[in-house]
Amino acid sequence: MKYFSIQKIFLLFFILINQTVVQAQSNPTASNPAQTNIDSILPIRGLSIAAPTSATLDSFVTFINQELAPRRVNALILRIDYHYKYKSHPELVDSSSLSLAEVKKIVNACKQHKIRIIPQVNLLGHQSWAKTTGPLLRAYPHFDETPHVKMPEVYKWPNPDGLYCKSYCPLHPDVHKVVFEVVDEICDAFEASAFHAGMDEVFYLGDDKCPRCSGRDKAELFAGEVTKIRNHLAQKNRELWIWGDRLIDGKTTGLGIWEASFNNTHRAIDMIPRDVFICDWHYARPDKTAVLFAAKGLRVATCPWRTPQTAVIQTSDMVAFRQHSTRQMKENFQGMISTVWTSASGFFREFYGKAPGNTSGNTFRAMFDEIDKLGK
Ligand SMILES: [Zn+2]
Repeated sequence: MKYFSIQKIFLLFFILINQTVVQAQSNPTASNPAQTNIDSILPIRGLSIAAPTSATLDSFVTFINQELAPRRVNALILRIDYHYKYKSHPELVDSSSLSLAEVKKIVNACKQHKIRIIPQVNLLGHQSWAKTTGPLLRAYPHFDETPHVKMPEVYKWPNPDGLYCKSYCPLHPDVHKVVFEVVDEICDAFEASAFHAGMDEVFYLGDDKCPRCSGRDKAELFAGEVTKIRNHLAQKNRELWIWGDRLIDGKTTGLGIWEASFNNTHRAIDMIPRDVFICDWHYARPDKTAVLFAAKGLRVATCPWRTPQTAVIQTSDMVAFRQHSTRQMKENFQGMISTVWTSASGFFREFYGKAPGNTSGNTFRAMFDEIDKLGK
Protein backbone atom coordinates (compact mmCIF):
# COMPACT_ATOMS: atom_id res chain seq x y z
CA MET A 1 0.00 0.00 0.00
CA LYS A 2 2.98 2.26 0.44
CA TYR A 3 2.96 3.03 -3.27
CA PHE A 4 -0.64 4.34 -3.12
CA SER A 5 -1.04 7.81 -1.77
CA ILE A 6 -4.53 9.08 -0.87
CA GLN A 7 -4.45 11.16 -4.07
CA LYS A 8 -3.69 8.06 -6.19
CA ILE A 9 -6.56 6.11 -4.59
CA PHE A 10 -8.95 8.99 -5.36
CA LEU A 11 -7.61 9.10 -8.90
CA LEU A 12 -8.23 5.34 -9.31
CA PHE A 13 -11.78 5.71 -7.98
CA PHE A 14 -12.39 8.60 -10.36
CA ILE A 15 -11.18 6.59 -13.39
CA LEU A 16 -13.31 3.55 -12.43
CA ILE A 17 -16.47 5.64 -11.92
CA ASN A 18 -15.85 7.54 -15.14
CA GLN A 19 -15.43 4.33 -17.15
CA THR A 20 -18.70 2.98 -15.75
CA VAL A 21 -20.53 6.19 -16.77
CA VAL A 22 -19.03 6.11 -20.29
CA GLN A 23 -20.02 2.44 -20.72
CA ALA A 24 -23.55 3.16 -19.53
CA GLN A 25 -23.89 6.11 -21.93
CA SER A 26 -22.65 4.15 -24.92
CA ASN A 27 -24.94 1.20 -24.25
CA PRO A 28 -28.18 2.42 -22.70
CA THR A 29 -29.99 -0.90 -23.20
CA ALA A 30 -27.40 -2.68 -21.06
CA SER A 31 -27.68 -0.17 -18.24
CA ASN A 32 -31.47 0.07 -18.15
CA PRO A 33 -33.44 -3.18 -18.13
CA ALA A 34 -36.66 -1.29 -18.93
CA GLN A 35 -35.18 -0.40 -22.32
CA THR A 36 -35.29 -4.05 -23.33
CA ASN A 37 -39.06 -3.81 -23.27
CA ILE A 38 -40.38 -3.13 -26.77
CA ASP A 39 -43.06 -0.79 -25.39
CA SER A 40 -40.31 1.33 -23.96
CA ILE A 41 -38.19 1.31 -27.12
CA LEU A 42 -41.09 1.98 -29.51
CA PRO A 43 -44.46 2.53 -27.77
CA ILE A 44 -46.59 2.70 -30.95
CA ARG A 45 -46.23 0.00 -33.60
CA GLY A 46 -49.03 0.47 -36.07
CA LEU A 47 -50.73 -0.17 -39.37
CA SER A 48 -53.07 2.21 -41.20
CA ILE A 49 -55.36 0.55 -43.74
CA ALA A 50 -58.86 0.77 -45.24
CA ALA A 51 -61.53 -1.15 -43.34
CA PRO A 52 -62.40 -4.43 -45.05
CA THR A 53 -65.68 -5.03 -46.87
CA SER A 54 -68.08 -7.74 -45.66
CA ALA A 55 -66.53 -10.11 -48.24
CA THR A 56 -63.00 -9.53 -46.87
CA LEU A 57 -63.95 -9.44 -43.19
CA ASP A 58 -62.98 -13.02 -42.28
CA SER A 59 -59.62 -12.71 -44.09
CA PHE A 60 -59.07 -9.47 -42.23
CA VAL A 61 -59.65 -11.12 -38.85
CA THR A 62 -57.24 -13.90 -39.87
CA PHE A 63 -54.71 -11.23 -40.87
CA ILE A 64 -55.05 -9.65 -37.40
CA ASN A 65 -54.50 -13.01 -35.70
CA GLN A 66 -51.73 -14.35 -37.92
CA GLU A 67 -49.83 -11.26 -39.08
CA LEU A 68 -50.49 -8.33 -36.73
CA ALA A 69 -50.39 -10.10 -33.37
CA PRO A 70 -47.05 -11.95 -33.88
CA ARG A 71 -45.46 -8.71 -35.09
CA ARG A 72 -46.52 -7.01 -31.83
CA VAL A 73 -48.68 -4.44 -33.68
CA ASN A 74 -50.56 -2.42 -31.06
CA ALA A 75 -52.31 0.31 -33.09
CA LEU A 76 -54.63 -0.15 -36.06
CA ILE A 77 -55.88 2.95 -37.89
CA LEU A 78 -58.92 1.82 -39.88
CA ARG A 79 -60.22 4.06 -42.67
CA ILE A 80 -63.99 3.84 -42.43
CA ASP A 81 -65.35 7.12 -43.77
CA TYR A 82 -68.93 6.26 -44.70
CA HIS A 83 -68.48 2.50 -45.20
CA TYR A 84 -70.43 1.79 -42.02
CA LYS A 85 -74.16 1.42 -41.54
CA TYR A 86 -74.61 4.62 -39.51
CA LYS A 87 -77.91 4.63 -37.64
CA SER A 88 -77.56 8.36 -36.88
CA HIS A 89 -77.11 9.24 -40.58
CA PRO A 90 -78.41 6.57 -42.98
CA GLU A 91 -78.32 9.20 -45.76
CA LEU A 92 -74.49 9.11 -45.58
CA VAL A 93 -74.01 5.33 -45.72
CA ASP A 94 -71.76 4.41 -48.65
CA SER A 95 -71.60 1.20 -50.70
CA SER A 96 -69.86 -1.85 -49.12
CA SER A 97 -70.60 -0.73 -45.59
CA LEU A 98 -70.02 -2.82 -42.48
CA SER A 99 -72.72 -3.55 -39.92
CA LEU A 100 -72.21 -3.16 -36.17
CA ALA A 101 -72.02 -6.97 -35.79
CA GLU A 102 -69.25 -7.09 -38.42
CA VAL A 103 -67.32 -4.29 -36.73
CA LYS A 104 -67.50 -6.23 -33.46
CA LYS A 105 -65.64 -9.15 -35.09
CA ILE A 106 -62.70 -6.78 -35.71
CA VAL A 107 -63.05 -5.25 -32.24
CA ASN A 108 -62.97 -8.66 -30.54
CA ALA A 109 -59.94 -9.87 -32.50
CA CYS A 110 -58.04 -6.69 -31.65
CA LYS A 111 -59.06 -6.86 -27.98
CA GLN A 112 -57.65 -10.37 -27.76
CA HIS A 113 -54.25 -9.11 -28.95
CA LYS A 114 -54.34 -5.75 -27.14
CA ILE A 115 -54.42 -3.83 -30.43
CA ARG A 116 -55.89 -0.36 -30.13
CA ILE A 117 -58.26 0.57 -32.98
CA ILE A 118 -58.31 4.17 -34.16
CA PRO A 119 -61.21 4.57 -36.64
CA GLN A 120 -60.73 7.22 -39.33
CA VAL A 121 -63.30 9.42 -41.02
CA ASN A 122 -61.87 12.22 -43.15
CA LEU A 123 -62.95 15.57 -41.77
CA LEU A 124 -62.45 19.00 -43.40
CA GLY A 125 -60.62 17.82 -46.57
CA HIS A 126 -60.91 14.74 -48.78
CA GLN A 127 -64.65 15.21 -49.30
CA SER A 128 -64.32 14.13 -52.94
CA TRP A 129 -62.03 11.86 -54.88
CA ALA A 130 -61.16 12.36 -58.57
CA LYS A 131 -64.54 13.06 -60.26
CA THR A 132 -66.69 11.66 -57.43
CA THR A 133 -68.19 13.74 -54.63
CA GLY A 134 -68.17 12.00 -51.24
CA PRO A 135 -71.33 11.16 -49.25
CA LEU A 136 -71.21 14.22 -46.95
CA LEU A 137 -71.25 16.84 -49.73
CA ARG A 138 -73.65 14.72 -51.83
CA ALA A 139 -76.19 14.75 -48.98
CA TYR A 140 -75.35 18.27 -47.78
CA PRO A 141 -74.07 20.25 -50.80
CA HIS A 142 -74.43 23.51 -48.86
CA PHE A 143 -71.48 22.41 -46.63
CA ASP A 144 -69.15 22.67 -49.68
CA GLU A 145 -66.35 25.24 -49.23
CA THR A 146 -66.16 25.74 -53.01
CA PRO A 147 -69.65 25.13 -54.50
CA HIS A 148 -68.59 27.14 -57.57
CA VAL A 149 -66.02 24.43 -58.44
CA LYS A 150 -67.92 21.87 -60.51
CA MET A 151 -66.84 18.24 -60.47
CA PRO A 152 -65.20 17.35 -63.80
CA GLU A 153 -66.41 14.61 -66.19
CA VAL A 154 -62.82 13.45 -66.47
CA TYR A 155 -60.47 14.25 -63.60
CA LYS A 156 -56.93 15.41 -64.37
CA TRP A 157 -54.19 16.85 -62.17
CA PRO A 158 -53.19 19.65 -62.46
CA ASN A 159 -56.43 21.40 -63.43
CA PRO A 160 -57.43 25.09 -63.67
CA ASP A 161 -59.52 24.93 -60.46
CA GLY A 162 -56.68 23.45 -58.41
CA LEU A 163 -59.20 20.73 -57.49
CA TYR A 164 -57.55 17.87 -55.64
CA CYS A 165 -60.31 17.09 -53.15
CA LYS A 166 -63.30 19.11 -51.98
CA SER A 167 -63.45 20.40 -48.38
CA TYR A 168 -66.38 21.21 -46.17
CA CYS A 169 -66.62 24.76 -44.85
CA PRO A 170 -65.32 24.68 -41.25
CA LEU A 171 -67.40 27.76 -40.39
CA HIS A 172 -70.72 26.44 -41.70
CA PRO A 173 -73.04 26.59 -38.66
CA ASP A 174 -74.63 23.15 -39.28
CA VAL A 175 -71.69 20.96 -40.36
CA HIS A 176 -70.41 19.90 -36.92
CA LYS A 177 -73.73 18.57 -35.67
CA VAL A 178 -73.71 16.09 -38.57
CA VAL A 179 -70.04 15.08 -38.55
CA PHE A 180 -69.82 14.80 -34.76
CA GLU A 181 -72.78 12.41 -34.70
CA VAL A 182 -70.89 10.29 -37.24
CA VAL A 183 -67.67 10.52 -35.17
CA ASP A 184 -69.46 9.54 -31.94
CA GLU A 185 -71.22 6.59 -33.54
CA ILE A 186 -68.08 5.15 -35.16
CA CYS A 187 -66.05 5.60 -31.94
CA ASP A 188 -68.79 3.85 -29.95
CA ALA A 189 -68.94 0.99 -32.48
CA PHE A 190 -65.16 0.45 -32.31
CA GLU A 191 -65.03 1.15 -28.54
CA ALA A 192 -62.29 3.61 -29.46
CA SER A 193 -60.27 5.84 -27.15
CA ALA A 194 -58.86 7.73 -30.14
CA PHE A 195 -60.24 8.93 -33.47
CA HIS A 196 -58.32 9.80 -36.66
CA ALA A 197 -59.76 12.79 -38.53
CA GLY A 198 -57.41 12.64 -41.55
CA MET A 199 -57.07 16.39 -42.28
CA ASP A 200 -54.24 15.87 -44.78
CA GLU A 201 -53.77 17.61 -48.11
CA VAL A 202 -56.43 20.26 -47.40
CA PHE A 203 -55.99 22.56 -50.43
CA TYR A 204 -59.41 24.20 -50.33
CA LEU A 205 -59.56 26.29 -47.16
CA GLY A 206 -60.55 29.91 -46.52
CA ASP A 207 -61.70 30.23 -50.13
CA ASP A 208 -62.03 33.80 -51.44
CA LYS A 209 -65.62 33.09 -52.51
CA CYS A 210 -66.78 31.51 -49.21
CA PRO A 211 -69.05 34.04 -47.45
CA ARG A 212 -67.85 32.81 -44.02
CA CYS A 213 -64.15 32.05 -44.58
CA SER A 214 -62.94 34.56 -47.19
CA GLY A 215 -60.11 36.76 -45.98
CA ARG A 216 -59.53 34.75 -42.82
CA ASP A 217 -56.14 33.41 -41.76
CA LYS A 218 -55.86 29.85 -43.11
CA ALA A 219 -53.68 28.72 -40.18
CA GLU A 220 -56.36 29.96 -37.76
CA LEU A 221 -59.10 28.23 -39.77
CA PHE A 222 -57.18 24.95 -39.76
CA ALA A 223 -56.24 25.18 -36.07
CA GLY A 224 -59.81 26.19 -35.21
CA GLU A 225 -61.19 23.06 -36.85
CA VAL A 226 -58.57 20.80 -35.20
CA THR A 227 -59.37 22.35 -31.82
CA LYS A 228 -63.12 22.00 -32.28
CA ILE A 229 -62.81 18.27 -33.14
CA ARG A 230 -60.31 17.71 -30.31
CA ASN A 231 -62.61 19.39 -27.77
CA HIS A 232 -65.58 17.34 -28.90
CA LEU A 233 -63.61 14.08 -28.52
CA ALA A 234 -62.22 15.15 -25.14
CA GLN A 235 -65.75 15.23 -23.69
CA LYS A 236 -65.65 11.42 -23.86
CA ASN A 237 -61.95 11.14 -23.00
CA ARG A 238 -61.02 10.39 -26.59
CA GLU A 239 -57.88 11.61 -28.35
CA LEU A 240 -57.62 13.23 -31.77
CA TRP A 241 -55.11 11.86 -34.28
CA ILE A 242 -54.38 13.66 -37.58
CA TRP A 243 -51.89 13.49 -40.47
CA GLY A 244 -49.11 16.04 -40.01
CA ASP A 245 -48.59 17.54 -43.49
CA ARG A 246 -50.62 20.78 -43.00
CA LEU A 247 -48.40 21.68 -40.02
CA ILE A 248 -45.10 21.67 -41.97
CA ASP A 249 -43.90 24.67 -44.02
CA GLY A 250 -43.58 23.21 -47.52
CA LYS A 251 -41.56 26.06 -49.00
CA THR A 252 -38.86 26.48 -46.35
CA THR A 253 -38.40 22.74 -45.90
CA GLY A 254 -38.54 21.97 -49.63
CA LEU A 255 -41.11 19.25 -48.86
CA GLY A 256 -43.59 20.66 -51.39
CA ILE A 257 -47.37 20.94 -51.61
CA TRP A 258 -48.35 17.37 -50.71
CA GLU A 259 -46.40 16.27 -47.68
CA ALA A 260 -46.25 19.85 -46.40
CA SER A 261 -48.24 23.07 -46.71
CA PHE A 262 -48.00 25.76 -49.36
CA ASN A 263 -51.21 27.48 -48.27
CA ASN A 264 -49.96 28.98 -45.00
CA THR A 265 -51.57 26.46 -42.66
CA HIS A 266 -48.21 25.50 -41.13
CA ARG A 267 -48.36 28.16 -38.42
CA ALA A 268 -51.23 26.13 -36.97
CA ILE A 269 -48.53 23.91 -35.42
CA ASP A 270 -48.33 26.52 -32.63
CA MET A 271 -52.10 26.95 -32.31
CA ILE A 272 -53.50 23.42 -31.91
CA PRO A 273 -53.84 21.72 -28.50
CA ARG A 274 -50.67 19.86 -27.43
CA ASP A 275 -52.48 16.54 -26.95
CA VAL A 276 -53.30 16.08 -30.66
CA PHE A 277 -51.38 13.04 -31.96
CA ILE A 278 -49.47 13.58 -35.22
CA CYS A 279 -49.05 10.92 -37.92
CA ASP A 280 -46.07 12.31 -39.88
CA TRP A 281 -46.02 10.68 -43.32
CA HIS A 282 -42.98 10.64 -45.60
CA TYR A 283 -42.79 8.00 -48.28
CA ALA A 284 -39.76 8.57 -50.50
CA ARG A 285 -37.15 10.11 -48.18
CA PRO A 286 -36.73 9.48 -44.46
CA ASP A 287 -37.34 13.16 -43.59
CA LYS A 288 -36.63 13.92 -39.93
CA THR A 289 -39.69 16.11 -39.29
CA ALA A 290 -40.68 14.00 -36.27
CA VAL A 291 -38.14 16.22 -34.45
CA LEU A 292 -40.13 19.32 -35.41
CA PHE A 293 -43.32 17.96 -33.87
CA ALA A 294 -41.62 16.54 -30.78
CA ALA A 295 -39.84 19.83 -30.12
CA LYS A 296 -43.21 21.59 -30.27
CA GLY A 297 -44.53 19.28 -27.54
CA LEU A 298 -46.65 17.13 -29.87
CA ARG A 299 -46.58 13.32 -29.84
CA VAL A 300 -45.65 11.91 -33.23
CA ALA A 301 -45.37 8.64 -35.12
CA THR A 302 -43.52 8.38 -38.45
CA CYS A 303 -45.52 6.80 -41.28
CA PRO A 304 -43.90 5.10 -44.30
CA TRP A 305 -45.80 3.68 -47.29
CA ARG A 306 -44.16 1.69 -50.07
CA THR A 307 -40.38 2.12 -49.87
CA PRO A 308 -38.98 -0.61 -47.62
CA GLN A 309 -35.49 0.86 -47.29
CA THR A 310 -36.96 4.24 -46.23
CA ALA A 311 -39.11 2.54 -43.57
CA VAL A 312 -36.05 0.77 -42.14
CA ILE A 313 -34.15 4.07 -41.83
CA GLN A 314 -37.21 5.78 -40.32
CA THR A 315 -37.57 3.01 -37.73
CA SER A 316 -33.95 3.26 -36.68
CA ASP A 317 -34.26 7.09 -36.60
CA MET A 318 -37.32 6.90 -34.33
CA VAL A 319 -35.50 4.58 -31.91
CA ALA A 320 -32.46 6.88 -31.93
CA PHE A 321 -34.63 9.98 -31.35
CA ARG A 322 -36.03 8.35 -28.22
CA GLN A 323 -32.63 7.20 -26.99
CA HIS A 324 -30.87 10.50 -27.49
CA SER A 325 -33.54 13.00 -26.41
CA THR A 326 -34.25 14.81 -23.20
CA ARG A 327 -36.79 13.30 -20.82
CA GLN A 328 -39.25 15.97 -21.97
CA MET A 329 -38.95 15.18 -25.67
CA LYS A 330 -38.44 11.43 -25.51
CA GLU A 331 -42.09 10.58 -24.87
CA ASN A 332 -43.19 12.65 -27.88
CA PHE A 333 -41.38 10.22 -30.20
CA GLN A 334 -44.06 7.55 -30.08
CA GLY A 335 -43.32 5.08 -32.85
CA MET A 336 -43.96 3.87 -36.38
CA ILE A 337 -47.14 3.32 -38.42
CA SER A 338 -47.01 1.55 -41.78
CA THR A 339 -49.62 2.90 -44.22
CA VAL A 340 -51.59 1.13 -46.96
CA TRP A 341 -53.52 3.15 -49.54
CA THR A 342 -55.27 0.40 -51.47
CA SER A 343 -58.30 -1.56 -50.33
CA ALA A 344 -57.71 -4.26 -47.72
CA SER A 345 -58.27 -6.95 -50.38
CA GLY A 346 -55.78 -5.22 -52.73
CA PHE A 347 -53.23 -5.21 -49.91
CA PHE A 348 -53.79 -8.91 -49.20
CA ARG A 349 -53.16 -9.77 -52.88
CA GLU A 350 -49.88 -7.87 -52.76
CA PHE A 351 -48.86 -9.05 -49.28
CA TYR A 352 -49.65 -12.76 -49.64
CA GLY A 353 -48.68 -12.78 -53.34
CA LYS A 354 -45.26 -11.47 -52.29
CA ALA A 355 -45.00 -9.11 -55.26
CA PRO A 356 -41.37 -7.91 -55.40
CA GLY A 357 -40.08 -4.33 -55.17
CA ASN A 358 -41.47 -1.18 -53.64
CA THR A 359 -44.89 -2.18 -52.32
CA SER A 360 -46.76 -1.40 -49.12
CA GLY A 361 -46.69 -5.15 -48.35
CA ASN A 362 -42.89 -5.27 -48.52
CA THR A 363 -42.64 -2.03 -46.54
CA PHE A 364 -44.89 -3.43 -43.81
CA ARG A 365 -42.70 -6.56 -43.69
CA ALA A 366 -39.40 -4.63 -43.68
CA MET A 367 -40.54 -2.19 -41.00
CA PHE A 368 -41.73 -4.94 -38.67
CA ASP A 369 -38.63 -7.08 -39.34
CA GLU A 370 -36.63 -4.07 -38.15
CA ILE A 371 -38.88 -3.62 -35.12
CA ASP A 372 -38.57 -7.35 -34.37
CA LYS A 373 -34.82 -6.91 -33.86
CA LEU A 374 -35.38 -4.32 -31.16
CA GLY A 375 -35.12 -5.42 -27.58
CA LYS A 376 -33.44 -8.70 -28.53
ZN1 LIG B 1 -65.99 28.52 -45.55
